[in-house]
This record gives sequence, C-alpha cells and structure tokens, in this order.
Amino acid sequence: MSRTQTKKPAKTQKTSNSKKFVYAFGKTTDGNTTMRELLGGKGANLAEMASIGLPVPPGFTISTEVCSYYYDHEQRYPAALRQSVADSVKSVEKQLNKKFGGRKNPLLVSVRSGARDSMPGMMDTILNLGLNDETVEGLADVSKNPQFAWDCYRRFIQMYGGVVMGVTSRTEEEEDPFHVLLEKLKRKVGAESDNDLTTQNLQTLVTQYKALIRKRTRGAFPQGVMQQLWGAISAVFGSWRNERAILYRQEYGIPAEWGTAVNVQAMVFGNAGDDSATGVAFTRDPANGEKVFYGEYLINAQGEDVVAGLRTPNAISKLAKEMPKSFKDLEKVRAKLEKHFKDMQDFEFTIEKNKLFILQTRNGKRTGLAAVRIAVEMQKERLMNVETALLKIPAESIDSLLVPVFDPKALKAASVIATGLPAGPGGATGRIAFTAAQAEKATREGKKVVLCRTETSPDDLKGMLHSQGILTSRGGVSSHAALVARQLGKVCVCGASGIKINYENKTLTAGKTVLNEGDYISIDGTTGAIYKGMIASTDSEVKRVLDGSLKPSKSYTYELFQTVMKWADKHRTMNIRTNADTPSMASQAVAFGAEGIGLCRTEHMFFEGGRIDYMRQMILAVDEVQRRSALKKLLPFQKKDFVGIFKAMNGRPVTIRLLDPPLHEFLPHDDVVRRQLAERLDVPLDFVIDRIKSLHEENPMLGCRGCRLGIIYPEITEMQSRAIFEATAQVLKGKKKIKVKPEIMIPLVGFRAELADQLKIVHRVAKEVMKKHKIRINYIVGTMIEVPRAAITADEIAKEADFFSFGTNDLTQTALGLSRDDMGLFYDEYQSKEIYNKNPFASLDQHGVGKLIDFAVDRGRATKPDLKLGICGEHAGDPASIDFCHRAGLDYVSCSPPRVPIARLAAAQATLRNA
Ligand code: PEP
Ligand code: MG
Repeated sequence: MSRTQTKKPAKTQKTSNSKKFVYAFGKTTDGNTTMRELLGGKGANLAEMASIGLPVPPGFTISTEVCSYYYDHEQRYPAALRQSVADSVKSVEKQLNKKFGGRKNPLLVSVRSGARDSMPGMMDTILNLGLNDETVEGLADVSKNPQFAWDCYRRFIQMYGGVVMGVTSRTEEEEDPFHVLLEKLKRKVGAESDNDLTTQNLQTLVTQYKALIRKRTRGAFPQGVMQQLWGAISAVFGSWRNERAILYRQEYGIPAEWGTAVNVQAMVFGNAGDDSATGVAFTRDPANGEKVFYGEYLINAQGEDVVAGLRTPNAISKLAKEMPKSFKDLEKVRAKLEKHFKDMQDFEFTIEKNKLFILQTRNGKRTGLAAVRIAVEMQKERLMNVETALLKIPAESIDSLLVPVFDPKALKAASVIATGLPAGPGGATGRIAFTAAQAEKATREGKKVVLCRTETSPDDLKGMLHSQGILTSRGGVSSHAALVARQLGKVCVCGASGIKINYENKTLTAGKTVLNEGDYISIDGTTGAIYKGMIASTDSEVKRVLDGSLKPSKSYTYELFQTVMKWADKHRTMNIRTNADTPSMASQAVAFGAEGIGLCRTEHMFFEGGRIDYMRQMILAVDEVQRRSALKKLLPFQKKDFVGIFKAMNGRPVTIRLLDPPLHEFLPHDDVVRRQLAERLDVPLDFVIDRIKSLHEENPMLGCRGCRLGIIYPEITEMQSRAIFEATAQVLKGKKKIKVKPEIMIPLVGFRAELADQLKIVHRVAKEVMKKHKIRINYIVGTMIEVPRAAITADEIAKEADFFSFGTNDLTQTALGLSRDDMGLFYDEYQSKEIYNKNPFASLDQHGVGKLIDFAVDRGRATKPDLKLGICGEHAGDPASIDFCHRAGLDYVSCSPPRVPIARLAAAQATLRNA
C-alpha cells in the first residue's frame, strides 16, 4: 500500500463498536492527567490543562488502544472510529465557529503523536491541516493577511508531502527536496528569511511543491480535508514503528505494546504577524535544575521554526520586553503549571495576535543533577512531600553527581567517532594506550591515558588502574572490562564494535578516523559515546567531599546528595551491600553508604603484582604437593587482604566467596608473558605451554570453575578458609576490638552434595583455627544461586546453607543459554527487533530469570524461614532489578561501590512504589 492511500476502517469487528476511542478536550473534556496509558502523555495533559482553565485550543485525542488495534489488524481501524472522528471535528467547529474545509473562516488542525512517556521528536507531526486551494483563500480573507495564509499552505504541503506522502531526501547526502525549492526561490527573489517572501512568491512555491509531489508520487496532493486528516492520522500511528522511535524505545525501555495516541487540535498561529510568536519553555532550568524561567521563542513563526534552528530563537527573558503582556500571562501559566502538575514542566506556547495559548505540557526531560535539585527544592517549597520527591528522581540520576564529568561546553564542540555500551559512567579523556604496560609507562611520565583494548583480561588490571578510562571493542556490560571498571569506579565503554584496534600497527580506526597510540581520545561511560581528541573533565564535588578534599559546606551538590540519601535510608527496607575485593574499594563503598560486603571475589585479589605468578603456579601445578606449595605462598596475601577488608568494614558483615575463576582468565595467552612466567617459576617454557594446552576448555565459563575447583582441589578451599579464619582471629584479638562475622560463600553450586562437600572443609578448618587461637568465631556459610538447578532444588540446598546470594550474571548466562562474553554478534539485531527490551545482563530478565529467583526464594524459605537472601550479580545496581529484588523479598542487594548510592535510592523507591 502506498503511503498516500488512507486506510479504510475495518468493516466488521465485534468487540469494539461500543468502545470509546476518541476523547475531547476544550469546552467539554473527557480525559485527565491520570489517563496517560489511554490518551498518551500529551493527550492526558491537554485534557488536564483544559479542565483547569488554561488556554488550550480545543481538539480531541484518539486513544492508544486504536494504535494497538491498528497494528493488530493489518493497519485498519475500528469501524466506529470514522464516525467518532467526524463528530469530534464537528464539535471543534462548533466551539470555534469555524468549518473544517469551509471557504469561510476555515478550521485548521494539527495532528500530533503522544505516547505514554514522551518521546520528543521521535514521531511525526503535521500542522496547518485543512488547507487546500479553496480554504487558503478563506484563511487569507478572514485573517486579512494573504501572505500568512499562503505561508501556512506551503508549510502544510511541505510537512504533509514529507511525512504522509514520503517525499523526502532519498540519500543521506541529499537535502530535503522542499527545502531545496524554498531556498532556490529565496535566492531568486533575494529574500533573506522565509518571512520576506511575498504572497506571490509563496503561491509560486505552492505550485512548485505540488509539482514535486506529483513527480515523486505520481499522485496529487489531496484537496479533500477529511482525506488529509486520515492520511495524517495513519502517518502518526505509522511513525510508532519508525526507526527513530524503535531506537528511542530501546534506549529507554519503552515497550512496543504501549502504542501512541493521536492528538488533533485546532491550530492557532504564531505566524500571524509581529504580534504573534511561538516558543518552548521550561519552568526551571533543565540542565542544572535552577529555579529560573528557561526557554526560547520566535516572533511571527510556527513551532517547527524554533526546533528546526533555521532562525535563532531568543531567550525567553527577552519576551518581557518584546511582548510584556504576553510575558506576564506566560509567567502566570508557568506558576500554575508547576503548582498543578507538581513537577518541572516543558511546555509549548503560541501567541496569536497577543493572545496566549498553551499547546502542550509535559514533565521536562532533565539532566541527573537537575532531577535531584528540582526534587529537593520542590520539596522545600512544599510542592511535594518527601515520598513524592524521592519517586521523582530517576535513581540513575545520582550517578551524575558522582562521576567525573565532561565540561558541557567542550562536549558540544567534540565529534563522536563511534559508540559502545556505556559500562562505567562518567567522562574520561586521555592518550590512547593499547597495552597495560604502555598505560603504566605513560602514566609514570605524567600523561593521562585511556586504555584501548579489543577486550581486557586480568593481565590488564594494572593498566586499567592507571587509566582514566577503558575502551574495548568487544565484550558486553558484564565482560571483564565492564565489571572491573565499574568496581574500580573507572569510566568504561565496552563492546564498541564500530572501532577496530590493530595492535600491530598501533591504530584505532572508527570509520574514516584513524588514531595512533598517544593520540587523544575521550569516552563517555554514561552514554557510550567515543570522541576524537581531548575533552576537559573533573572529579565530582561529592567525591571530593567524601575524600575530604572539599568542605561539605562548600558544595551545594553535596548537600543535595546528602538530603536525598537521608530520605532514601529512612524509607528503604532492603539493605545495601557492595561488591568489593580490596580495603580501598571497601572504604569507598562505606563512604557511599554500603552496609556490608555482599561479594568479595577472592580471585580478584590475585590479579596484582607477584601474586598472579603464584596463582598461575597453583593452576599449573601437576600434583597436590606443587599446588600446596603455591597455596602456601598465597595464604599470607589472602590473610592480609582479609584483615584489611575486615578493618575497613569495621564490624559490618563481609561475604567472602571462595575461588571462582574460569581458569582461562588467569592463564597467559601471549608468548612473551608465557616466557616470563616460565622464567619466574623456573620451569621450562614447554612445560608452561603444554600445561596451558592440557587445561584448555572449549567453554571455560561452564567448565572447571566455582565449587568444582574446590571439590577437585580441596586444598584450595582449605587455604582460603584458613586465611579467612586466621584473619578473623587476628582482627578479633586486635586492639580495636572490631567485630567480625565472616560469611563464607560457595560459588556455582547446583547440587546439595557439592555444598556439603565444601562445608566439611570449611567447618574443619574453622575448628582448627578456633582451637589454635582459643577463641570463638561466629561465621556462617552459604551459597550462590547461579545455575538453574540450584534455583530449582533450592529447598534441598537450603538444608546446607545459611544464606543464598543470587549470582545473576551466571544465572542469566545459564538460564538464557547466553554467553556473558559472546553476545556481540547478534545483540544489535535482537535489540532492533525488540526481542530484548533491555540487555539481560544489565537489567534482570524478570519474566524468565526472575521466575527462577521467585521459585528459589519460596523453596529456600520453605526449608529455612530465616534464610538470608541477597543478590550480588551486576543487576544489583540496576534500579528496575532492585525493584524486582524488593518484590521478591530479598534482604539485601550488593552492587559495585559507585552504584551504592543509586541502589540506596532505588531500594527506597521500590519500598514506596510497592507499599
Ligand atoms: C554472578 O555470577 O552473578 C556473580 C556475582 O559472580 P561472577 O560475576 O563473579 O561470576
Ligand atoms: Mg558467578
């Protein structure tokens, strides 16, 4: 079906005849602001504004149910719709004493989309609908301004031709064909701006536009106003599935099933002369949240002129001078909107011959900082209570108060060369280093670097620590790079498949851009954008207060942060723990408000310095004697680390997980490192190579890891248990009398027998250490639930366990049969087909993995009613997943240190939302 054809209503349909599909706003109003699901955000708010007496031009909203019907019925409409629309048009005609398609005083309308959540600029809009060769004359007569009437007509044909009839640029390089004609004419007649065109010029343009449409579509521009209206309605419904809209929905997790509403509204004209204007305004500054009137407008223009940027709009403050009365009216509207909607509003207005109209209002999009500031200040102003204020702040917003940030001005001038997955928020700029060694070297020389790797491994940790940020071309949001970066609070963009890293040539290529080692690159871990060159960034004020380098009283941002955190702590019921492997990470997390450690990954403790050699020696050992010899060297390191962590946590609970690395993460892959290892271990290189070969696994993630390691090499569990209990004894006996109650966690358990096997060792060692030191150690032993079998048999496993911690990284991997490291090949396609609403490794698959968790919670607690339950996968820092955890009845979530504040807020929101 060509885009010009309008779709006829379906002839028969049983269910929908009696249903209401169209809702009026104006003199009579059917809807209100609570009806967003049905009327979309715009329709619901238009109704609300009309009913509180704001000057809204009348119109009607076709509900989102029609959109769903349209897509479910091969793009046809419910039979009753045509009559309802005709009746609604009549009602608008009556209210304004105008006629749709009438020669005398014609009614013109706008047709706009309006989804439940606003998707600015993503879908289609048509203005000035109802003009044809006859009504344009009527408009000229009634306005006594033929130039204005013909300007409206040419605008309408341009928009309708593009949006409904598909006459647009055919390649990325080609300009909009209507725009080309307009500019050509302006050049010919010497017009500087569109407003300089005379009536005659505009008439010529209309003729040219119509000819263009005829040539491109082999059809004529429709003269029938009802045909125009249905064409526009179909185009707006159609735009729900355009590429932009789909992308936007993915970004913001908006389900495709929601659909859009269509709003048809009487036109008012900002282009009716110099006593007319149009503009967009925010009731507060959306960038920093300050309580100032913010916005812009253009005199003698229509809405699209402000957005299109063809003319530079004026700041709203200037309107006070240019149109003092209208500005005063606008100020009143600003106050009324905030008071009524109790949120910062982003609204569109038109002034027609000095009379103000409001065309739409919505909760304004804002930066994270603005979200926090607006909520806190609105609570202070008594516009909302604390509970509402807490719910108004998207939990992720807290991040923007914590991460090093790019200077917004510099960002505007920068060019994006590629994008990847935003994996560690904040902005980082530095010189490109392709190896960890180069990163370290450059840092020692006083340079800032961004480590750019195809993917990272434990060998890179040092380089990561030295870098401002980490960029990888492969790997997902729970890949090694992402996980470590988040834990370290490093900026990270991973899986940027649009860049190619060539280690040999030392180049990073993105499209036509080629960067060399040492060149500047900037990455934004909040958006995933990668920029060429340097962009200035700085540590957040909150961080500087927390590390003592800035006085709290000197930072308003810190005051905002503290206010929100205090509110959150008062309202949340879940505890917030952190995933930390070092004393410094633990201290940082405590400063952010962590109440314990929910996951200490012991293998991460072996990444650094000489330890990795002993770890490798242990892995490469051919018998127990060799293994015990390596373990003996590792024990003091482990014990020292645990002491440090226990001290940093100062009596807070600490869950230590026994060794769980897929072995390949620890084994060197390149020849140089293998040779060095052989030298350091004093073994032949061939031995190292052969042993690595013999340990090779096709699927290391499903291989010899987790409790399987401790089961085949019990001496590992023994060493780790000893290190934990020895460290506990040392701290308990220390001067400061810090309380320690270690929680030992056995990973990747699927069978009760696996847990029982490991428990025996833990208990035996505990006894030995207690006897040796003549003290009593309070400890508990639990397990991770990270394979479906563990969830399904949770009742049996709970017999052995004091607690469960859901390892949702592996649980997602194993439940979905989806590799944590290898989803790059199909992930984009899955997203664009909306198979995944969100990345399942970033936000919990609540319908699938969530059911396993619910089941395990039920079964586990059936066996042991006081079984302690938590989550320590990456999902524990994701607000939607935290909401799920609250509903599932978990006791705590454990996330990386930088996400602790987000989790505190998200947990409070979950309590409020589900109260
Ligand atoms: C998990 O699987 O969710 C988990 C926390 O363990 P890891 O990421 O270390 O495998
Ligand atoms: Mg795991």
